[in-house]
Amino acid sequence: MTSRHVHGRVHSGEKPYQCKVCKKAFAHSAALKMHVRRHTGEKPFKCLLCPSAAFAQLPHLKKHMLCIHKTAKPYLCIRCREFFKTKNDLETHEQTCKAEVVNHACEDGGDSLDKVKDSDDKDKSLVPPMPIAKMRMLLAILLKRISTSERLEQLGFGERLIDDVLCESIEMSGRKPCSDKGMDEGERLKKNVEILLEWTVPKRFMDRFQKEGRSAEALLEELTS
Ligand SMILES: [Zn+2]
Ligand SMILES: [Zn+2]
Ligand SMILES: [Zn+2]
Repeated sequence: MTSRHVHGRVHSGEKPYQCKVCKKAFAHSAALKMHVRRHTGEKPFKCLLCPSAAFAQLPHLKKHMLCIHKTAKPYLCIRCREFFKTKNDLETHEQTCKAEVVNHACEDGGDSLDKVKDSDDKDKSLVPPMPIAKMRMLLAILLKRISTSERLEQLGFGERLIDDVLCESIEMSGRKPCSDKGMDEGERLKKNVEILLEWTVPKRFMDRFQKEGRSAEALLEELTS
C-alpha cells in the first residue's frame, strides 16, 4: 500500500480499521493499535530506570525521561546504561556494545521501550506463540462479551492492565489465578486465559477442542471471531 493511498484516507474519511472490542473505526492501523490499549490497559513503553513507570504512549515516556531523568534521550542501553535519542541509534550501538548486561535491569521482564520481546523465538513448539498484545486484545473481546457492564466496571476493565482484571475475575469466581511472578508475563497470562476458558466454555466443547490437540490460543481466537 502506498503512503499516498494511506494519506488519502484522511480526506476520503475512509476508516478501514475497526476495533473488535468496541467497534470504533480508524483510518490508520497505528491509531487502532493505540486505541486498543485503552481496553487492554497495556503500557508497553517502560522506563528501564524506574520499574513501576510504564506508559501507553511513547511521548509520555519521553516526558518522563525529561522530567525525572533530565534527558531528552529516552532509549537506554541496558548493558552500559548510556542513553540514545532514537531507537535506531540505540540499535546501532547495541551491535557494538561490549559491556556486560547489568542484571537488575531485567527485574520486571524488562521490555525495552516498544521493542517486542522475541525471547520465545527458539521455542521448541511448532506453533509460534501468540503475541501478548494480541492475546490481550482477544481477551478484552471475550470479557466484554461474557460479562455485564457493571461487572466490567467493578473489575476496572479499561482502567488497568487486563491481566490484572482477569486475575481478579478468576479470584471472584472462587478459583485461584496463576500469579507466579517468576514466570514470563506472556506465559502467566496464557495460564490464566486457560483457567478462564475452562471455567466458562461448556465442557463438551472444551473436550472436543482438546481432543483435536488445539491450543488455548486457538480456542480464544475461535471464540472471539
Ligand atoms: Zn475499542
Ligand atoms: Zn524513570
Ligand atoms: Zn551499551
